[in-house]
Amino acid sequence: MIQSDASVRCFGQMLRSDDSVIGYHQTVVTTSVARNKLQLLRSEKLAKRPWLVHAFSTRVGGVSRAYGGSAFNLGFTKQDSRAAVERNRELFLRELGVANGRKPWPLVTLRQIHSDLIHRVDGIPHEPLTGDGLVTDTPGLVLAVQTADCLPVILVDRKRRAVGVFHAGWRGTVKRIVEKGVGEMRRHFASDPRNMIAAIGPGVRGCCYEVGQEVRINFESQFAYGSSLFREVKESDPVREKYPLLFLTARAPGHSELPVKLFLDLAEANRRQLLDAGVPAKNIDTAAPCTVCHTELLFSYRAEKGLTGRLMAAAGIRPGLRE
Ligand SMILES: [Zn+2]
Repeated sequence: MIQSDASVRCFGQMLRSDDSVIGYHQTVVTTSVARNKLQLLRSEKLAKRPWLVHAFSTRVGGVSRAYGGSAFNLGFTKQDSRAAVERNRELFLRELGVANGRKPWPLVTLRQIHSDLIHRVDGIPHEPLTGDGLVTDTPGLVLAVQTADCLPVILVDRKRRAVGVFHAGWRGTVKRIVEKGVGEMRRHFASDPRNMIAAIGPGVRGCCYEVGQEVRINFESQFAYGSSLFREVKESDPVREKYPLLFLTARAPGHSELPVKLFLDLAEANRRQLLDAGVPAKNIDTAAPCTVCHTELLFSYRAEKGLTGRLMAAAGIRPGLRE
């Protein structure tokens, strides 16, 4: 069951305008974005499991004064105060429904480095962990990655009751962090990928993720399908279009092509890795919104030129519940 009421929305709703949103998931009540009310997003494919705790945070309804006020920043950034972030994290755990007892479940995070390093945890780590993936089958922990354009991915083994969270920017994706994440869950928990459900959370999407040629070269050298992840857009030039003859003669031979913009579909890249690792297509939720397109709801490093907060993708296992 989803614990909270009006603050929870599933991905599908993000694609519609706020006033016309109809409950996508039965238990979800929707309202328009209230700036002061905490809002979490959930994947419809993961929302049905009583033993599973999961959410993707938004920027709305926190106590940070940085980033436009009432910001729900969950990362210790330069611009925000530590106290505000800690308070937001408390609110996050409460909203997740894991802070009802005497003390909240521990929140396990990473010092993220765009790697393919994945840690298995079964308790509070003795020292801070460095890497970009966390997996567990231990109940009572909240595993989380932080993002602001990079893709967060949550993986769930519905049979063995294990979860994983991964931070996948383009570098981590080239290193196959998510594909390896499936492998780590097989190794540690004997997970069968056919029983896995994945949710690719809010991040920069193909509409907005302009990259350089070196990114394409990296993907093409690693993946047979590499080139299919990119979209080329010819840059239009109004002056050139109006006076084509002028430019026909003015340019040296070999330099007549218009510049091309290159866009990467990072969500598709990660979906392909999940498929290659054996996760069924129907078990992969890719409906999350683009961070760059939705700065009213999400933090975007690109759209806000680095001056932005951090979103969190979190997952955990409730103790002692039968499915
Ligand atoms: Zn976009």
